[in-house]
Amino acid sequence: MWQSSSDFKLVSSRNLVISAGKQRFLFDPTVVKSHWRSQNTIACISHAHTDHIAAFESSLQKIVTPPTLDIYRALGGKPSKFHPIVPGEEFSLTDGGSIQVHPAGHMLGAAQFVLEKNGARLVYTGDFNLTSSLTVNGANPIRCDVLLMEATYGRPDAVFPPRERVYAEIAEWTSHELTKGKIPAFQVYARGKAQEIIQIVNTYLTTPVVVDSTIAKVSEIYRKYDIPLEFINERSEEGREVMRQGGYVYISSKSLRSPKSIFRHQYVRAAATGWAQLYQLKKVDRAFPLSAHADFQQLVQYVQAAKPRAVYLTCGDTVTFGAVLEKLNVKQIVPQRRRQLELLDFV
Ligand SMILES: [Zn+2]
Repeated sequence: MWQSSSDFKLVSSRNLVISAGKQRFLFDPTVVKSHWRSQNTIACISHAHTDHIAAFESSLQKIVTPPTLDIYRALGGKPSKFHPIVPGEEFSLTDGGSIQVHPAGHMLGAAQFVLEKNGARLVYTGDFNLTSSLTVNGANPIRCDVLLMEATYGRPDAVFPPRERVYAEIAEWTSHELTKGKIPAFQVYARGKAQEIIQIVNTYLTTPVVVDSTIAKVSEIYRKYDIPLEFINERSEEGREVMRQGGYVYISSKSLRSPKSIFRHQYVRAAATGWAQLYQLKKVDRAFPLSAHADFQQLVQYVQAAKPRAVYLTCGDTVTFGAVLEKLNVKQIVPQRRRQLELLDFV
C-alpha cells in the first residue's frame, strides 16, 4: 500500500502534470513552460500523433518508445535528451519508484505509462485501443489505483462495428470502384491510419498502393519494425508510372481538394475515422468507421478490468463518461482551478 497521501499530485490539469515525490511528470504536454525545465521534470510522450509530441521541442528529459522516436525523426524532428524505453524495461525514479511502458494498441509505438511509487500505481493510457488491427496488437487494461484515461468516444452511441467487418467493407468498396475504372483515394492521418489502409489493401486485394511522401516515410518505420507494408511513393519513378496507367489505390495525408494535379483518372474520395459512426462526413464519397481509439464499450471494459479507485478523464466527453463512472462506482477526479489535487485522497 502507499505510505502517504502525497505520492501522486495533479499539479496542473491543463497540461497533465503529476508530481510523485521529488519528481514531476508531464504526460503528453501541449505546452512546455520554462519553469518546468528543472532536472526533476520528465516528459512522457505516449505516441507520434502531432497533438502528443510538443515536448519533443523542449529541453526536458523525455521518456519515449523507440518507434515513436523513429517516426518523429523520419518526419524531420531532431529530438534531444530522450530515454528510449520498451515494454518490460523500467525507468527508475531518483527517490524510489519506477516508470514502465505497456503497449496502447493505438498505432506503432503507442504506449501506456505506469508510474509506481510506494506501492501505489498510476496509469496514463494515452490514446488506446483494445482491439488488434492489421498493424498493431490491441492493448491490455492495467490494474491500478489511479487511472488517467482518454474518453474520446465516451458517449454510449459511440460503438464501432467489428474491425474485420469494416476491413471487408473497405476492400469491397475499393474493389468495386476499381472495376468501374475509378481511383479510390483515402485521405487519412499519415501516422497510423495510412499504414492500416495500406495493409487492408495488401491483405484483401492485389492492387498497387500509391502514397504521398509523408506516408511513405512513416510506413518505412513500420517496415523497420517488421510490419511488411507494400506501397509506392508517388514521387518515385515507379509511382509516377503507376499513376499514369491507373488501376491503383491512392492514400494521402493532405487535402484532396485540388485533385486535378494528382489524378489523370476519375477518382472517388474516402475517409476512415471513428467519427463516421456518429456523423455524416462531408466532401467524401464514402466514410468508414475505422478508429484507432477505444469505443464506448472498450472504455467501460478498461475501467472494469483495471479496477481503479479513481479516474481522471484526460479528453473527450468527460461529463457523459463521468456519469458512467458513477454508475460503475468509480470516483471521477474533477480538477479544481489553481489547486493541486492529492490524487490518492480520492482513493
Ligand atoms: Zn493519437
